[in-house]
Amino acid sequence: MLQQTQVATVIDYYNRWMQKWPTLQALAQASLEEVNELWAGLGYYSRGKRLQEAARKVVSELAGRMPRTAEDLQKLLPGVGRYTAGAIASISYGQATGVVDGNVIRVLCRLRCIGADSSSPAVIDRLWDMANALVDRSRPGDFNQALMELGATVCVPKAPLCGECPVKQHCRARSRVSTMPKCGPKGLPCMGTRWAGG
Ligand code: SF4
Repeated sequence: MLQQTQVATVIDYYNRWMQKWPTLQALAQASLEEVNELWAGLGYYSRGKRLQEAARKVVSELAGRMPRTAEDLQKLLPGVGRYTAGAIASISYGQATGVVDGNVIRVLCRLRCIGADSSSPAVIDRLWDMANALVDRSRPGDFNQALMELGATVCVPKAPLCGECPVKQHCRARSRVSTMPKCGPKGLPCMGTRWAGG
């Protein structure tokens, strides 16, 4: 529900969904009309449909047991891509695997001062490697959520709050900008936007 939708909007939907279908078994028995009705207003209706299809698959083909690794989640469940698989596996099942979303891309590119096109498959693959290497082995879910939150609240696209950033000592973009003040009106490529950090 949180893909493409803000938390404040999702809370009511999530609570109503969990009251109506508290288990995978209950969701597997719902009709598509019921799912679409509850999902109405969240947009991207295919997400609700895929969620129900995944519940049906777990119940009918996987003996009611959720896959617990990112690899199996992606391989076995419809609609589960690399990001969703990493998020579920690390947050719900404690697998030490990274996640890469838009916020993480921005944070990692700035930390390493990567100026290459961050939408290119080669760069995305490299960022996944970095996320998998960086993730905290003992608290992967907390680490991944913290990294995404850092991008959403501190390392924001415009005017990142570098003075308050907990990883500023490790940030190559910050370090380079502070030693190269004349880097142009738009700052370094890895900053993406005009530098206004501390
Ligand atoms: S120091 Fe600034 S640019 Fe670097 S990660 Fe923190 S907020 Fe982002």
